[in-house]
Amino acid sequence: MFVCKNCKSKDKFELMFSPDYKGSKSFSLGYNSKNEIEITVDGYTFVPDLMFMNQFAVCKYCGQIYMWDYENNYLKK
Ligand SMILES: [Zn+2]
Repeated sequence: MFVCKNCKSKDKFELMFSPDYKGSKSFSLGYNSKNEIEITVDGYTFVPDLMFMNQFAVCKYCGQIYMWDYENNYLKK
């Protein structure tokens, strides 16, 4: 799970697509059997890493970008 370091919400985000992205931008979230977040974009499913999150994910609550951390890392700090 990813946590927003600004507002502390978890896994609540939208993706930013580059203007030249050609797909339909259909996007959904789920969790796999290891309880990792999975993103599906236009039929392609993957487990995002922190680098991906900090490049493409916008917090749904506070609108911040580049503010994600792994929940486990964050709780230890
Ligand atoms: Zn936030």
